[in-house]
Amino acid sequence: MTDILPFLKSLISVSGLSGHEAPVARLIEEKWRPLVDEMSLSRVGSLHGLKKGSGKSLRPSVMIATHMDAIGLRVSKIVDGFLHITNIGGIDVRVLPGAQVIVHATGSEGEELPAVIAMPPQRFLPESVGDGVVGISYLLVDTGLTPRTVERKVRVGDLISFSNEPFELAGEVVSGHTLDNRASVAALTVCLEELQNKPHVWDVWAVATVQEETGFLGAYSSAFMLRPQIAIVVDGTFAKGPSANSWQTHPLGKGVGLCIGPNMHPFLHQKLKELAERLEIPWFLDVTPAHSGTDAFPIQITNEGIPTALVEFPIRYMHTPVESVSIKDIQRVGRLLAEFVASLNADFVDTIIWE
Ligand SMILES: [Zn+2]
Repeated sequence: MTDILPFLKSLISVSGLSGHEAPVARLIEEKWRPLVDEMSLSRVGSLHGLKKGSGKSLRPSVMIATHMDAIGLRVSKIVDGFLHITNIGGIDVRVLPGAQVIVHATGSEGEELPAVIAMPPQRFLPESVGDGVVGISYLLVDTGLTPRTVERKVRVGDLISFSNEPFELAGEVVSGHTLDNRASVAALTVCLEELQNKPHVWDVWAVATVQEETGFLGAYSSAFMLRPQIAIVVDGTFAKGPSANSWQTHPLGKGVGLCIGPNMHPFLHQKLKELAERLEIPWFLDVTPAHSGTDAFPIQITNEGIPTALVEFPIRYMHTPVESVSIKDIQRVGRLLAEFVASLNADFVDTIIWE
């Protein structure tokens, strides 16, 4: 199996905030192009890679969806050369002060301005803020430029993305921003690489969706457009970590998460579980009571309904600049996806039953 870490690192070094995914889409397209038969973009910017199966014409297809968008920030106001910010997607405001960021300055042809997020000293904050978490409206982004230069280069509405470099912790764990969900894109890439030497009857749609973090635009629209017979979504789930309870979290580096709940088709779940056991890929059960909060929901309810499964990897410190994942888990997800695709017979759809 190829080492996916270098590609994963490059994936999180490229911006692609929700609604502005083009930079990362270009990188993924370059990587996937030699691994698939056709590449295209949906009308809203999701990336579609088609790897054709060996079956006769009118082949069934499986869509494997990984969202490529990232949470981030946007300039909401400029005061005395400092930038006030608002969020794109669900950001954990507690970890913003001290973060390294890049301001994508449209007044200066998209120049990337390095900056830091700063919190005013408590004595300068209103008394009502107290000792608690300082709200996003009080945080400031400092580029180090003079107020006049900032006014010239930066516009209200400009994007701000995290810029801390990914780095490796002990135990094959990589830490950085945007591992939700670029780690899934990496896993899908592992799957495509494995499928180069693995015959499969079904067509595979490798899809990198847009705007999962802000309303599932890519998942809805790509599922509607591609009309796959079944779908698998890959996303992160909460890993065990400091102060995390043990019943809602899962150990990092110990395997693949297979989700059950009304958003997942029980038959597909069963098949993935049996396959993981046969291949001795460690897995854990993740129980979601309703909407999984992932692309699995919009895909499941598109067209006449699409049987959908959710495959996960544990992630620590979700939606912070130091998200952490195990490379082993990412490789395992990729391998399980490839083996699942290869296991699909021409008549698999007819065997799908509700229990
Ligand atoms: Zn995600």
